[in-house]
Amino acid sequence: MKIALPSDAMVVLVGIAGSGKSTFARAHFAPTEILSSDAFRAVVADDEADQAASEDAFALLHIALALRLRRARLAVVDATNVEEWGRRQLLDIANRTQRPSVAIVLDIPVAVCLARLTSRGIRPVPPHAVRRQQRDLRRSLAGLLEEGFSAIYAIDSPEAAATVHVERIAPVSAARDVMSRRNRARRDDARSSNRHRNA
Ligand code: GDP
Ligand code: MG
Repeated sequence: MKIALPSDAMVVLVGIAGSGKSTFARAHFAPTEILSSDAFRAVVADDEADQAASEDAFALLHIALALRLRRARLAVVDATNVEEWGRRQLLDIANRTQRPSVAIVLDIPVAVCLARLTSRGIRPVPPHAVRRQQRDLRRSLAGLLEEGFSAIYAIDSPEAAATVHVERIAPVSAARDVMSRRNRARRDDARSSNRHRNA
């Protein structure tokens, strides 16, 4: 699967714990492009699993996201992002900075994710929390386009994840700048021909 990403995009990874978001991010993006909720929990609380630190962690993540997008730097949000209200906050930031937003959904079977989490002893995410995330994810899938994402890619198996190729394409904001330059030029032309007509 080929994923074409405008180089100024906000990329939102969507997936339950153990679905492979952080692994995917590491495989396809530079460390500085990845804004991870776990990493920001560690920044504020020295513990990436401290759920009580989530609010502060996301406050920092949102600021970093807005500042990168303002500079037209690609930003990848590595968090579960399975809840609509959480995605809404991210989309608001992308819209305010006029950047495209791309969702990459890692829709990996919950049994696979639970097996990975337990066998590797990665993180104490209780199975009931993972199942709740799965319910939120299922509810989310149909409505992502309506929420305002410019593009949505769904990866539904570990095999599919292994075949993903991410390609950077021209920034959408550059195209917008060209358009507005053209529109300005047309408007100026129209004004000057009006002046000639009125003269
Ligand atoms: P996250 O919780 O969504 O960030 O998931 P992680 O990226 O931490 O991955 C959870 C576990 O699954 C890790 O032990 C990874 O090594 C493993 N994993 C992630 N992606 C894949 C994959 O595509 N194939 C396989 N076999 N294992 C994976
Ligand atoms: Mg992770």
